[in-house]
Amino acid sequence: RLEIRALTRRFDGRAVVDGVSLQVMPGQVTCLLGPSGCGKTTTLRMIAGVERQDAGQILIDGAEISGPGGDTPPEHRRIGLMFQDFALFPHLSVAANVAFGLTGPREAVRARVAEMLARVDLSRYIDAWPHELSGGEQQRVALARALAPRPRIMLMDEPFSGLDNRLRDEIRDETLAVLKEEGTAVLLVTHEPEEAMRMADEIALMRGGRIVQQGAPYNIYNAPVDRAAVAFFSDVN
Ligand code: ATP
Repeated sequence: RLEIRALTRRFDGRAVVDGVSLQVMPGQVTCLLGPSGCGKTTTLRMIAGVERQDAGQILIDGAEISGPGGDTPPEHRRIGLMFQDFALFPHLSVAANVAFGLTGPREAVRARVAEMLARVDLSRYIDAWPHELSGGEQQRVALARALAPRPRIMLMDEPFSGLDNRLRDEIRDETLAVLKEEGTAVLLVTHEPEEAMRMADEIALMRGGRIVQQGAPYNIYNAPVDRAAVAFFSDVN
């Protein structure tokens, strides 16, 4: 379970993330939606531990990982990342990519790699190189890599934006199924209303560093808080 409380970040005196609070339960997807520059990526970066916060608290499973009570380094937060520009390592095999964040006895690492590749239905590519895979297959390997160390939280920033439309639906559905199976709490950033409606259990609308509306996708779709939100959802079928 991920919980953030009054998270704040200022650049040059301007709060780009301004007291953001939210919770994501295991196996649930919360989607951060909002216009460019509203603070989505900065929020994710603070949770990942690669950006410092000026105020607020971050808790994982009830334990403070960042805030007045402590600061756990990024590599010990048990957070998985799937970012738009977070590609596979081209010089490592598919197996080595999935093994990248794993520690422990070789046999256990090998078994976990095989398990994760089976889960994304790519066992046959275990010895392949990233360039031998299609974009969608690479994305599935990236998912296997992110989930291999059993993160409790998964942060995703526009993870499907490099894929063409037809493939995107398929990969989204498959990704969602794997995340649910693993019971991972997911915080997803997107600017695609369709993607939010399709994947999210809860949507949080952000404007100027703040959450202005939060709730189940259809509640937000049916009663958007402002004109921008109305326009935003107008092309979802
Ligand atoms: P997008 O959808 O375009 O990715 P976003 O909602 O993710 O936007 P952020 O990347 O979080 O927005 O940026 C929020 C604001 O903070 C922007 O105005 C950005 O210019 C500013 N900002 C981000 N990082 C820095 C930095 N290191 N120094 C100064 N300003 C920054």
